[in-house]
Amino acid sequence: MPQYQHIPGGENTRYLLGDGKFRFDCHSGVVCFTRCCHNADMYLYPYDIIRLKDCLGLTSEEFLAQHTITAFRDNPYFPQVMLKMSEKPGQPCSFLSQSGCRVYGDRPYSCRAYPLEPAFFGDDNRISVNCYLIRHGHCLGHLEEQEWTALQWIRDQEMEDYHEVNARWAQIDSLFRQNPFGEKPLESPALKMAYMASYNMDTFRRFVFDSSFLSRYEVPPRRLEAVRNSDTELLLMGFDWILRFVGGQGPLKERQIGG
Ligand code: SF4
Ligand code: SF4
Repeated sequence: MPQYQHIPGGENTRYLLGDGKFRFDCHSGVVCFTRCCHNADMYLYPYDIIRLKDCLGLTSEEFLAQHTITAFRDNPYFPQVMLKMSEKPGQPCSFLSQSGCRVYGDRPYSCRAYPLEPAFFGDDNRISVNCYLIRHGHCLGHLEEQEWTALQWIRDQEMEDYHEVNARWAQIDSLFRQNPFGEKPLESPALKMAYMASYNMDTFRRFVFDSSFLSRYEVPPRRLEAVRNSDTELLLMGFDWILRFVGGQGPLKERQIGG
């Protein structure tokens, strides 16, 4: 039997699911339908932002300005991007319409994953994921009959599309948690550059193609072509760049002077 971990001050529980099964369903017939789309305290991951801004036809700058706030949360050294709720009564998510989520096909990873909380481990060659099961006290979906394994839920919610990028992000996030930005992270130019390369693909794209970036770093032609055509490829190269200029490691090589 799994051991429930009670989160202090609430009726929420969290336990490592492993190979176990869980009961859950979320549909318009549950009494709490869209309850969790109000006043949500939700992180957005870098790939969420690409999917959402493309879905909404916005630039990354517009999306960040209109739909997000930044805050230092569980990592005191690097700001996190949170989905901004609307100011209407009950603070519904801006993407909630009468017929449900209007960005459903590109909804954030956290919206897909609940009630799972995946944790990534492994290396670039083999990514593994281990899932916690979260039960929020207000969520009646846990009383439904439908039964799932973690893998079944991951497939049903099309979460695998996110896993390569989110696993790479977990590596970058872990680097940021070691405070590579010095005594005053907020004043660090390296933090500002890392933030751009993580969240703002429009600015980062201009930085890559309109600055001296390509004369300083070796980017193989095929990769460069992929980066030109895809924000996701640009983001993955941004992660490599962060590993190099913040962590002093990783596959992106600096050009030799005169080379
Ligand atoms: S993005 Fe969609 S599913 Fe997620 S909180 Fe907003 S309305 Fe709900
Ligand atoms: S609270 Fe649970 S069951 Fe209700 S809408 Fe949210 S995820 Fe679905």
